[in-house]
Amino acid sequence: MPMNPSKSTMPTTYLRAPPPVASLPVRGSEKRLPVNRLFFVGRNYHAHAVEMGRPVDKSAERPFYFTKSPSTLVESGATVAYPPETENYHFEMELVVAIGKPGFRVQPSDAPALIYGYACGLDMTRRDLQLAARDKGRPWDLGKDVEASSVVSEIVPHPGPVISRGELALTVGGQPRQKSDIDKLIWSVPELIADLSLFYHLQPGDLIFAGTPEGVGAVQPGDRIDGRIEGVGEIVLHVGAAA
Ligand code: MN
Repeated sequence: MPMNPSKSTMPTTYLRAPPPVASLPVRGSEKRLPVNRLFFVGRNYHAHAVEMGRPVDKSAERPFYFTKSPSTLVESGATVAYPPETENYHFEMELVVAIGKPGFRVQPSDAPALIYGYACGLDMTRRDLQLAARDKGRPWDLGKDVEASSVVSEIVPHPGPVISRGELALTVGGQPRQKSDIDKLIWSVPELIADLSLFYHLQPGDLIFAGTPEGVGAVQPGDRIDGRIEGVGEIVLHVGAAA
C-alpha cells in the first residue's frame, strides 16, 4: 500500500502553542465542559424587542441568531476591562443552554435529549456599534463579538424536563435593572434547539444564549453586575477600567 503523505503517524506539531480550549466549570464535577460554539438568540422577549424598536410577531417570524467567538468566553467572577470604541456598553442577562449530544434537524419533542445543562449568561454588547450597524444593514460583529463579552456561570447539569419557568433577574451595584421569567421566552428552549438545528449540526459543547428580557442598560468602569436565574444559579461580573 502506498503511504498517504497526509496521514502521517507522526504527532502533530505546531509553530507555537495553540490557543487554550475554551471551557467552563461544571457543578458537582472536577471536570470542565469544553466549549465549542457560542450561539445567541436575538429578540426573544417581547418587552425587550419593543425597547429595541423591533417588535416580534411569532406567527410571521422565525428566531434569528448571531454568534461570538469562543475566545470571548469569560467565567463568572471575572473583572473585565471596559472595552474600546464604545460609549454605551450594555448588560444582557440570559439563560444559557449547554448542548450535550449531537443533533441535526431535530423535532422540538426530541430537543430535550440534546440538553446537558444550563447556566447564567451575560451577553455584553457595544450597543452604540450594534445599533449603528443594524441601521446601516451591516453585520453586528463589532457590537457583539467583543473581547471578554460572553460571561457564563458554572454549568449546571440538568437531565429530565426542560426548564420552562423561573425568575431571571439582574442588578447593577445592587440596583434592580432586569427582572423577568423564563416562561416569557417567545421561542421556548425546545423550539430554539429545533430551529437552530435546521442550520447547524449541533455539537456537544455548543452554548445557546436564549435572549435577554427588557431593562438592558449601560455599565461604567467600577460597576458590579449580579445576575441570577431561579433553579439555575448566579453570575457576577466586575467592570474594570478602560483597556
Ligand atoms: Mn443577547
